[in-house]
Amino acid sequence: MDQRGGDRASFGFREVGDAEKEGLVREVFDSVAPNYDLMNDLMSAGVHRVWKSLLIDRLNPQPGETLLDVAGGTGDIAAAFLARADTRPRRSEKEPARAIVSDINAEMLAAGRRRKTPAEISARMALLCADAERLPLPDGCVDAYTIAFGIRNVTHIDKALAEARRVLRTGGRFFCLEFSHLETEGLQKLYDLYSFNVIPWLGEKVAKDRESYQYLVESIRRFPTQENFASLIRKAGLARVKYENLSAGIVSIHSGWKI
Ligand code: SAM
Repeated sequence: MDQRGGDRASFGFREVGDAEKEGLVREVFDSVAPNYDLMNDLMSAGVHRVWKSLLIDRLNPQPGETLLDVAGGTGDIAAAFLARADTRPRRSEKEPARAIVSDINAEMLAAGRRRKTPAEISARMALLCADAERLPLPDGCVDAYTIAFGIRNVTHIDKALAEARRVLRTGGRFFCLEFSHLETEGLQKLYDLYSFNVIPWLGEKVAKDRESYQYLVESIRRFPTQENFASLIRKAGLARVKYENLSAGIVSIHSGWKI
């Protein structure tokens, strides 16, 4: 609890009040939005595209499905989901797939609108400015829920997971792609050296914002281990929870089912 009686949350390595965290996270993404896609390519040498493509493989999108991509930022996961679903054979009675890109930050959604997404894909993407902890959507309305590099920014992870379960239909699938913890201590040390030195430096040079990128690397370090995060997903009531490390645990894909 903070001095005003509110709860505390971590903002990178700092402890702040809940309400303060929301504001600080908003400032980070307001600031990084214009260079967001470029910085992702630079920081990961393009590998984030491979991780996201593997996420789409695991989702196995099909015509007729609706995806909700929460903390969807510039909408690349939703666009890839729809493009992949369009490659699948479609029975005449099935509608094409649809997606909702939801993000708390209007600047990130606006940056997504400026992306060159093919018209036949963007026509099936609805944008929703909303907090992952309070989704203005009915129960059981989507077939799949994704959250990529988003959940560690959310103030109450348990509330976001409860919302994920609520909006999924029975038989729906949950996927979370997130930075995680390396499989060996040696690799973790190497990765820390890179992330704590190179990423804030890149942020300063390219986006003229060292602080936001310092927050990003600290928030990665503070995120629960793969096992602990899997326990939180189970606690939210999702079933058959598992995870898969990519790039030796730099990121992992957690998944579960609503049954
Ligand atoms: N999913 C995109 C991707 O993979 O590139 C964007 C990830 S970006 C690192 C994190 C996103 O989480 C930002 O767009 C930010 O606005 C959003 N975000 C932060 N807190 C949120 C919340 N409580 N609810 C919804 N979105 C949130």
